[in-house]
Amino acid sequence: MSSSCKCSILDGDRLFLPTNIMHELSILHSIIESVTSVMEAEKKPAAIQAIDLDIGELAGIEVDSIEFLWSAAMEGTLLEKAERRINRIEGKALCVACQQEYTLHQVFEPCPLCGGHFKNIIAGEDLRIRALTLVDS
Ligand SMILES: [Zn+2]
Repeated sequence: MSSSCKCSILDGDRLFLPTNIMHELSILHSIIESVTSVMEAEKKPAAIQAIDLDIGELAGIEVDSIEFLWSAAMEGTLLEKAERRINRIEGKALCVACQQEYTLHQVFEPCPLCGGHFKNIIAGEDLRIRALTLVDS
């Protein structure tokens, strides 16, 4: 699961993006879309000073790729100058067999109490924009 980011974008003379990077790129685009619609709803003109993101450990998102692509993806957007703060959210699951709640870093980790593999994930599966810090512009 924790395959490290392959930052090799150039393959010979072909330009290609590994699928995992495509995934992160589309995530960045949805962040921009959400932030843009939030900002359009704002009454006063404001600039974004910072954005706080919660990224779950089980969300299947490579934070390294997010970091790597950030400045290029944000260029010319409302988030261009914003400081990004990424919080990793620990994965949590509830064991179906013994009802034990436990912390996990990979989706396939078994229950530490009974070794069971059936679980309900209760935290760490998603990405959220936790906060936008605005300054008057
Ligand atoms: Zn269990």
